[in-house]
Amino acid sequence: MRKFIVVVPLFFIVGLILIGAKPTTEKPKPQEIKLKGNILCLAEEMKTLYNVELDAEHKHLYGFKTDKDKYFTLLHTSLSKALFVDKRLHEKDLIINGRVFPNSQLLEVLSFMSVRDGVVHELYYYCDTCFIRTVAPGNCDCCQAPVVLMERPLNTDSLVPSP
Ligand SMILES: [Zn+2]
Ligand SMILES: [Zn+2]
Repeated sequence: MRKFIVVVPLFFIVGLILIGAKPTTEKPKPQEIKLKGNILCLAEEMKTLYNVELDAEHKHLYGFKTDKDKYFTLLHTSLSKALFVDKRLHEKDLIINGRVFPNSQLLEVLSFMSVRDGVVHELYYYCDTCFIRTVAPGNCDCCQAPVVLMERPLNTDSLVPSP
């Protein structure tokens, strides 16, 4: 009986020492990646592939399917907004530069481009009245007219005048 009482606190103390002695675990770093593929509703894709009983009224779960059949869930950020709201982008072959977070398939979009006939194109929104370029559709910050989607071959005369 006495022995038992002594042993339990010992384990407790040893445990505490072990926790304290452990070097502060470094947070795993996000991985920067460049992916080629298409935007799609992951929920519908999983329904097609694995017969998920998906509600027809579901909220689309947009993600990216790469050319190597890997799936990533897109995080909503100001830089990725266009990929959610502009359905025209869902028809395009895209290249996404972004970050994937440790132990997840969550993709943070940092930039995206399209590939058309094998040529990489810049994608952006533009107000040709104010020469303002934006990353998402909507109204121009300056004149309030809707910005238009631009798709121009990269590395050619694709620079637009800045205000
Ligand atoms: Zn859907
Ligand atoms: Zn404008």
